[in-house]
Amino acid sequence: MTDLSSDLPAPSRRDFLKTGTLSAVALGAGGMTNRANGQPRTTVDRVEEPDAAKNVIFLVSDGMSAGTLTMADHFRRRHEGRASNWIRLYEEGRVRHGLMDMAAANSSVTGSAAAASSWASGRRVVNEAVNMSEDGTEYRTILEIARDAGKATGLVTTTRITHATPAGFGVNMPERWMEDEIAAQYRERGYDVLMGGGARHFDADRREDGRDLFGNFRDDGYTVAQSNRDLAQWDRTGKILGTFTESHLPYVLDHTHIQKHRTQVPRLPAMTEAALARLDKNDDGFFVQIEGGRVDHGAHANDTGGLIYDQVEFDDTIRRVLDFVDGRDDTLVIITTDHGNANPGVNATGDHYSASDPMFDRVADFQYTNDWILSDLDAESTTRQIRDRVETAWGFGISREEAGMLQDALRGTYRAAYKKKSEPDLLLGALQANYTAVNWLSGDHTSDYVELAALGPGSEAIGDFTRNTDLFDVMVRAANLESYADV
Ligand SMILES: [Zn+2]
Repeated sequence: MTDLSSDLPAPSRRDFLKTGTLSAVALGAGGMTNRANGQPRTTVDRVEEPDAAKNVIFLVSDGMSAGTLTMADHFRRRHEGRASNWIRLYEEGRVRHGLMDMAAANSSVTGSAAAASSWASGRRVVNEAVNMSEDGTEYRTILEIARDAGKATGLVTTTRITHATPAGFGVNMPERWMEDEIAAQYRERGYDVLMGGGARHFDADRREDGRDLFGNFRDDGYTVAQSNRDLAQWDRTGKILGTFTESHLPYVLDHTHIQKHRTQVPRLPAMTEAALARLDKNDDGFFVQIEGGRVDHGAHANDTGGLIYDQVEFDDTIRRVLDFVDGRDDTLVIITTDHGNANPGVNATGDHYSASDPMFDRVADFQYTNDWILSDLDAESTTRQIRDRVETAWGFGISREEAGMLQDALRGTYRAAYKKKSEPDLLLGALQANYTAVNWLSGDHTSDYVELAALGPGSEAIGDFTRNTDLFDVMVRAANLESYADV
């Protein structure tokens, strides 16, 4: 991190006003005295900054290509008659936004562990590492920094809570897949709110070492929640470990149509509301990371229903956060993604450009994801079974020839020109494109620069183009955490 200290006097409110560039958010309550340890904020480049952010809310849609953001907006406009919450922020000019370079230390194509690490510690690490250099040096994370500054801390996700993005905000680990160890490290670090899937990494019967981490967390005073009802009954005080599924939460589309999921598993907006209600009780504010984690999985699998409905849910979560910050000027909200993935988009697929929109509208009638379709098919499946399963999920059938191609892929004999597209899931995504106009580049991450949007105190520092590691500095400065960070 760059040295933030200098001998310049702290600028006065009058100085801020004289510049004429003071953001409207700085004009509310709070004054200019809210500084950690009474230290003046003194660098020249901060002269135009408003008050410190008491709270930071970091929203991540994992693996969201620009086309995913666009399609969720199209979807809302065409079926709900309104823009997505994310795009409306742009329409209304309420956010600073630009592009962000998410490269890892060793690659322009980044994974979620290196991406989250770049934000959380201000360091680029090699892919798969979590806030740790190749020689084992641990980089202090933003969640620990916030915790040590007296802030409440939280991680909320639709993936396993031990997955790369949440772990990347608060853990040091040589390898992201060490999820039993990540679960144990969460306990050591004592964060206040942990919510998502991943019960298997806390359960004595499922952990490699047989440790009863659920019991350990209870011993530490945590509420351990494992169902929708547990979450509803939680009194929003104390600490909580919520693991609502063994692995990831179901895709939104499957959750909507499968009764047992609806009964058992809370969704991201509900988890977010509960987390914010608890975290906001802390006098010194909070830092929370909230992830729509399965957008990435939908992209990896070229699963249009999985992708779009989860992105729409993420967009609903943005709404909950905007409702939370409405009328207050003490919360920095960051909305972004960690990398592109598979770069989907609505293509001109029919006989003419205007055929694409009605094709895309078919997504609104989907009942289940492609993941659901493939979960019950294998090398023995007949083309009749394949066609029936697809029709149940999408509301329309595919041709016998297309079913035969998928049958070949299930048997491992299908060969696409681009090798990765020989797999059943990517082939199914390509067949789906014949009907929905949503087509895909590949089944994996891209090096594309990503969308970064922010509002609230500190967001003024977001420029048109941001290096991922600079976002760490933006947050540390905004929340006045310099004296707790390794500077
Ligand atoms: Zn991924």
